[in-house]
Amino acid sequence: MKIPQEKIDQLNEIILRSNRIVFFGGAGTSTESNIPDFRSKRNGLYNQWNEKGLSPEILLSRSFFRKKPEVFFQYYRQNLIHPDALPNETHYGLAKLEKAGKLKAIITQNIDGLHQKTGSKYVLELHGSIYRNYCTECKKEYHLEKILEDNNVPNCNVCGKMVRPDVTLYEEPLDIKVIDKAINAISNADTLIIGGTSLVVYPAAGFIEFFRGSDMVIINKETTLYDQKADLVIQGSIGEVFRRMNL
Ligand code: NAD
Repeated sequence: MKIPQEKIDQLNEIILRSNRIVFFGGAGTSTESNIPDFRSKRNGLYNQWNEKGLSPEILLSRSFFRKKPEVFFQYYRQNLIHPDALPNETHYGLAKLEKAGKLKAIITQNIDGLHQKTGSKYVLELHGSIYRNYCTECKKEYHLEKILEDNNVPNCNVCGKMVRPDVTLYEEPLDIKVIDKAINAISNADTLIIGGTSLVVYPAAGFIEFFRGSDMVIINKETTLYDQKADLVIQGSIGEVFRRMNL
């Protein structure tokens, strides 16, 4: 269903009067780049169970990674790595807002690196990035190619131990420095735009509680638990919103 023009107009007005916008996003910002999210009713990865009957929450957990790294890497390579994906209207629109001096930070739960591909500078990756990898023993750093070079568990060229992605698995804490920066950015924002996230993954979702500014906007295909608190809720495609905004 097409998003009503009055909603787009309201968002344009908010953007016009804002100077410290922060964007808080999730996997839904990248579905229009053909990267599946987790919880969308139709194509979300949570609706697909792997052949052994394991959910993504188990497959992407720290304990499973330690117990069965070969199955972890098989699932991770097939479902989480999309090196050929291109940024979409949302990523480009946010980069434009940053360049115009309106947007101060992008806080993303995504690990796909698509915001940086449009030139966005201040991107806080709460859950890490597929592009950073490191040896679990000697901490030598590796690029994504290391994970993609064959189908086995990747091993360090120096010490021979396992290389892992610098992404936050279930059961793992977030990076405290990134948390601090995210909370600081949200606390200082005059407008918080939340887009393409189910807002059910904690602690990340809880950071939006630190918002003290005047306009909270939620753009999502499905309803979220925070819709009641928002000043403007736009239900629909975030790509469509950014395509139709005055940027
Ligand atoms: P989620 O899957 O829980 O929720 C995505 C939400 O976005 C859903 O509510 C869905 O309705 C909405 N959505 C999907 N496409 C949309 C669109 N085009 N326009 C507007 N809304 C849309 O995602 P989440 O809240 O980010 O969950 C968190 C976890 O998912 C994160 O930890 C993240 O690391 C992981 N993840 C990341 C990627 C990625 O990097 N692209 C992909 C899959 C999962």
